[in-house]
Amino acid sequence: MAMTRAELDRDALVAWLSEDDPARLATLWEQAEAVRQAHVGPSIRRRGLIEIGNVCERACLYCGLRASRAGVRRYRMTADEILEAAHASAALGYDTAVLQSGEDPAFDLDAMCGIVARIKAETPLAVTLSLGERSEGELTLLREAGADRYLLKLEASNPALFARIHPPAPGRAPTTRVPILHTLRRLGYMVGSGGMVGIPGQTWGDLADDLLAFAELGLDMVGIGPFIPHPETPLGRHAERLMAPMGEQVPASVDVAQRAVALTRLLLPAAHLPATTAIETLGGADARARGLARGANVVMHNMTPWAYRADYDIYPNPARLAAPGPSPAQSSARGASGPPESPSPGA
Ligand code: SAH
Repeated sequence: MAMTRAELDRDALVAWLSEDDPARLATLWEQAEAVRQAHVGPSIRRRGLIEIGNVCERACLYCGLRASRAGVRRYRMTADEILEAAHASAALGYDTAVLQSGEDPAFDLDAMCGIVARIKAETPLAVTLSLGERSEGELTLLREAGADRYLLKLEASNPALFARIHPPAPGRAPTTRVPILHTLRRLGYMVGSGGMVGIPGQTWGDLADDLLAFAELGLDMVGIGPFIPHPETPLGRHAERLMAPMGEQVPASVDVAQRAVALTRLLLPAAHLPATTAIETLGGADARARGLARGANVVMHNMTPWAYRADYDIYPNPARLAAPGPSPAQSSARGASGPPESPSPGA
């Protein structure tokens, strides 16, 4: 019998998250797999991830796209480029286009509504948006244009930790993401969130609270991946001195991230849980495959055109750097988008 939400209180979650006995963990993987089979079935959901732009006005301490970072070539995909990547996703049999970007200060709501409406009209895809913290008015119009789902990660549910790694937008008050998640639900979106495992300063109790927050929010989708230090960011450069005291700091490891995914499966049996790219980036294709046998049921395939792939530099990802250059011969030979097995940084 699988452990229930009532049994998985904060102490139990801390114990499981920090468990490293392989025999005991085997029972966790079995339970997560059984619950996944019973509630979302055996099939893997495949999403096409289109990283539509990397212009961002935020200063998140973990993210390589933060506004003040020089030396990253900023881009915005055109409507036609986004449509082409969506059609390519549909042709590969994916069920959803996930449109992800930074928080673009020149965000064009009309244009984005038009893009969503065109994807819905021209393809059978569901549309997931992951455009950061947008206003209720914007989210309302995007929903009316046909957007089905929205992905906004809590990143860290501990308000003090989140505030530390996520400064407010220029000239604005600090934000928290929970109210936006409630707004999304009220507007009829399917709601996705998630977080990072092993953020410098994150304790085992913080991570347990993340999982309890996901359950409390009744999320439809939860993406959990290890924090990956980016050398061009404050968290990447100063990770050592921001760590929680010995024994309390959660390591940013594939193992802990997979325990968190498996526990989330037990807490939210019917949720869609990706075997995230951050897990694959650190652990390789094997880790992704293991994740899909330990409670995860979704894979995000990077469909961003090669011309932009390397510029969506959220965190270092060798697979992305190995992408072929943007020469016209290569892009016409391969189509506008990369091969479906390419890891994507945003998942
Ligand atoms: N700008 C939007 C969406 C994109 S960011 C937003 O903030 O919601 C995509 C995801 O990449 C983030 O939600 C975060 O969980 C993850 N990410 C960013 N930097 C990371 C890092 N250094 N290590 C691991 N994951 C990271």
